[in-house]
Amino acid sequence: MGVSTVGVVGAGLMGSGIIEQSARCGYNVVAREIDETAVTAGRKRVRDSMDRGIQRGKFPETVRDEALDRITWTTELRDLKACDLVIEAIVEHLERKRRLFAELDLVTGPHTILATNTSSVSITAIAAATKRPHKVAGAHFFNPVPVMKLVELVRALQTSDETMDCLRHFGESLDKKVVVAKDTPGFIVNYLLVPYLLDAVRAVADGTATVEDIDTAMTLGTGVPMGPLTLLDFIGVDTTLYIADVMYDELRDPKYAAPPLLRKMVSAGYYGKKNGRGFYDYANGG
Ligand code: NAD
Repeated sequence: MGVSTVGVVGAGLMGSGIIEQSARCGYNVVAREIDETAVTAGRKRVRDSMDRGIQRGKFPETVRDEALDRITWTTELRDLKACDLVIEAIVEHLERKRRLFAELDLVTGPHTILATNTSSVSITAIAAATKRPHKVAGAHFFNPVPVMKLVELVRALQTSDETMDCLRHFGESLDKKVVVAKDTPGFIVNYLLVPYLLDAVRAVADGTATVEDIDTAMTLGTGVPMGPLTLLDFIGVDTTLYIADVMYDELRDPKYAAPPLLRKMVSAGYYGKKNGRGFYDYANGG
């Protein structure tokens, strides 16, 4: 089945990137947020990101303008009814995602594939909230979506081959490399990455070294493009805590137990780069 219109629910950090990349790759996009304020913020995020692409010489202004013309913004879920594929990128919360999928099941056509960008929630549990579980799968993008070349497709117990084939084709059409994982906590990347990020927070809490020195050590000592605490700020301290909690709940492995410092930072509202303060202070440009 071909995809021509893509719905994206949630236009935060990830949703805005999926909206941009889909529109730039020629898809018509219907973007849904919860209210007009969030629509305005999402629209600005998409435009600002493309403006940065233009400034860096990645594409001309015409690409941005044509992409923006392909995006329809809405607060109404029913406006997704003509979409061939809907990708959910709302907050990382199982019950909220299940409720949304049950609603999407009612408002979209029977052919529509429903994908979730969840980092850690069970795709099988989300699929079970619909009457089309064979048309539900994970499509896990990475931040920032326009730059990061990977999408992990995640097959729920119920997902059909046809759904996986369609998503593979869609992922490749967005110029991404596609990998396929089973529906296990953290899939591939977070299964390996989350213990590393939590260990970095433990190292800060233990006083092993400063935040800057931990990042410098891992950047120069292992050749990764950014240190774990910069990466954590980039992913979102709150998002990382949520992912760790979900993985710990499922796996009961202490590797995934969030250190108290991470929890305290979320209580203090230090969510990372997206709101100006995390392990680093991003006020005045960082
Ligand atoms: P975010 O907080 O930046 O954005 C979430 C957005 O969803 C907000 O703008 C919110 O207003 C909107 N929203 C909430 N409920 C909604 C609803 N019912 N309808 C429409 N919009 C709704 O979060 P994010 O970092 O973009 O994460 C979104 C999802 O992507 C999560 O499941 C997260 O685990 C996953 N993810 C995040 C990253 C990352 O690096 N942050 C990477 C891969 C996957």
